[in-house]
Amino acid sequence: MKITHVEIFDIECPQRPVWNPVFVRIHTDEGATGVGEAGLAYDLGHSAAAHMIQEIAENMLIGFDPFQTENLWNRMLRESFWGLGGGPVIYAAMSAIDTALWDIKGKVLGVPVYQLLGGKVNDQLRAYASQLQFDWDIEFSRLTNPDDYGKAAEKAMAEGYDCVKVDPIMYDAQGETHFQRTKLFSNTDMRLFRERMRAIREAIGPDNDIIFECHSLPGVSTAVQLGEIAEEFRCFYFEEPVNYLNSELHKKVADKVKVPIAAGERLYNRHGVRPYLQDQSVDVLQPDIGLCGGFTEAKKVCDYADMYDVQIQAHVCGGPVATMAALHLETAIPNFLIHEHHTYAIKPWNRELCLQDPQPNNGMIQAPDTPGLGIELNDEIVMRSPRVVVNSLK
Ligand code: MG
Repeated sequence: MKITHVEIFDIECPQRPVWNPVFVRIHTDEGATGVGEAGLAYDLGHSAAAHMIQEIAENMLIGFDPFQTENLWNRMLRESFWGLGGGPVIYAAMSAIDTALWDIKGKVLGVPVYQLLGGKVNDQLRAYASQLQFDWDIEFSRLTNPDDYGKAAEKAMAEGYDCVKVDPIMYDAQGETHFQRTKLFSNTDMRLFRERMRAIREAIGPDNDIIFECHSLPGVSTAVQLGEIAEEFRCFYFEEPVNYLNSELHKKVADKVKVPIAAGERLYNRHGVRPYLQDQSVDVLQPDIGLCGGFTEAKKVCDYADMYDVQIQAHVCGGPVATMAALHLETAIPNFLIHEHHTYAIKPWNRELCLQDPQPNNGMIQAPDTPGLGIELNDEIVMRSPRVVVNSLK
């Protein structure tokens, strides 16, 4: 079997201009096709990832045997030159391509991808409602008032979730977005964050879980300040308290804050996670299959984490292909903790991108038993967006 042509979609959603999932669909001479997604659907980088997929396709994919996932992964790593230096663009492209090849493999062999990863360890996956500061609804909002945080949590609870995630520090009292929270917080700042968290705790009761998200906005000192709130409201974990540019920062936070630390959505492959596992500064690792290297690498990252008793919550903030990929991985790993269901995953403009629509039911979600990933692009929708087709090597 050989790869004949590769389609790359840089999706545009008119209702949400800053949302750009990047899909790849790989075709073979035997008719089987596979889809994958790059993990750069939000903020900057999607068009770079789409172009990187195109360059890899033009240099390595056409005529290649799609079953040779390990071989291709290492070729992409080394023959791209930049793969050996890391970074989101090259790894997002490698991840999307690798995911699509596993989809092809599953379809041709007649088994779901989770079977190829080792079979079913987890059947029903516990899911949480992610990013309540944007509300939990089909419309996107920026919440500022603590009462609204409580109401968003109530909506998630009404759908059957028993765990929610919130970033209470992204917006200030006026609704301004902060991309940096490294300057020491005043008592007024801390009171606002605490009131938002209290509203959620009161809405969900003492037994349900809250994940405290920081998006790497704080510095070490402000992360430790926020850690007091995470402890006070008995948060399930404290996510991305600091940035990844210096791994020693996580270690300092982990030593001072008595809540499990989560991180990993901006780390690539085994080498990227190594310092955090070795110094045991991360309790919950959050690899994104669309960024850390696709299934080929994500499975290895999860097994490596298991050596350190580190739990896995795959990071998912993308189109339905990304969600489906996460479900297959999470089904097959013993150290799975919980599945992230992002507020973008419930938006109509995202759900319509594929023919299947993976959504939790009563707070639980399952990988499908159909061959491959079990998801197909909705051509009626995706063909409206820019598409590039590669059908020959350069
Ligand atoms: Mg996050």
